Amino acid sequence: MFPVRLVRRQRRSPSLVRMTFTDPSLDRFADRGYDQRIKLVLPKPGGLPLSAFPTGVDWWAQWREQPADARAHIRTYTVVAVRPERCEIDVDFVDHGITGPGSRFAVEAVPGDEAVIFGPNADFAGEAGGLEFRRELGGTARQLIVGDITALPAINGILERLPADATGLVSIEVPHEEDTRGVHAPPNVDLMWSVTDRGDDQGDAVRQWLTALGPLTSDHAATTVIEDGVADSYWEVSAGNTAVTETADLSAWIAGESGRVRALRRMLVDEFDIPKAAVCFMGYWRSGVAAS
Ligand SMILES: Cc1cc2nc3c(=O)[nH]c(=O)nc-3n(C[C@H](O)[C@H](O)[C@H](O)COP(=O)(O)OP(=O)(O)OC[C@H]3O[C@@H](n4cnc5c(N)ncnc54)[C@H](O)[C@@H]3O)c2cc1C
Repeated sequence: MFPVRLVRRQRRSPSLVRMTFTDPSLDRFADRGYDQRIKLVLPKPGGLPLSAFPTGVDWWAQWREQPADARAHIRTYTVVAVRPERCEIDVDFVDHGITGPGSRFAVEAVPGDEAVIFGPNADFAGEAGGLEFRRELGGTARQLIVGDITALPAINGILERLPADATGLVSIEVPHEEDTRGVHAPPNVDLMWSVTDRGDDQGDAVRQWLTALGPLTSDHAATTVIEDGVADSYWEVSAGNTAVTETADLSAWIAGESGRVRALRRMLVDEFDIPKAAVCFMGYWRSGVAAS
């Protein structure tokens, strides 16, 4: 747990706001890149102070025991940048209006506002968790990376660390044309934008790419696990991230609104016969439903 305060707030695009957090303890925040997720704890207005947030190993159970109308909000975000030497980390928040505590924080927070971040500690030698992208397949299997604006920070993190010889498709859906700036992919990875303002259909773009690819061979025997990673959201990732390492033609990473992710799962698994174990399906949020 890193107790942090906001130090800078910078509008990156119509949909994204970059929040920079600081605390002396962030010199031990591990920079693992890719899709590293964190938990952000925000106090509920008029509720319990952040100092009442449990920090022991059983923090989750203890937090659940606190009164629901007073306990802090917990939301999931992605680390964009880590600067241990400056004790800072950056997180890009989607501004979807004053409709939830995370987005409200992105719109209304001011430098000095406090939060708690649950993330990887550089002193921890074990597997810290929170990474789903299959790093070992980055330069071998063809990549299919599909996401919406909430997944853009993770996709950027993945693209920054993909090897120069990586191949595949990255398909990103964003609300506005101006949200497409500043994303770079290796030369043999196609970067395709679907802009909802323009009426683009991301599903069609992915279907066309998969059709052009032709049949794939992969190990259908590999297993998958379904985790309840996000309340009311859909989350299905390969066990141990290693199931198809030997034979994979394709490694897919799909994140965004849960209903859309389910529809993409149907397309990949039912229409194109891609083994579930070759794909991480992650519902990052659910339309009309607040995270718990
Ligand atoms: C692993 C992971 C990584 C994530 N990384 C990021 C990240 O880096 N940046 C980021 O912004 N989000 C990210 N998300 C998504 C974020 O956790 C959700 O969007 C979350 O619901 C935001 O909380 P909130 O308090 O703003 O809204 P909530 O209180 O959860 O929801 C309130 C209302 O807003 C709606 N809503 C929630 N999110 C959106 C949205 N994006 N667009 C439109 N309506 C929405 C809900 O359907 C609900 O009706 C990530 C999620 C996961 C699981």
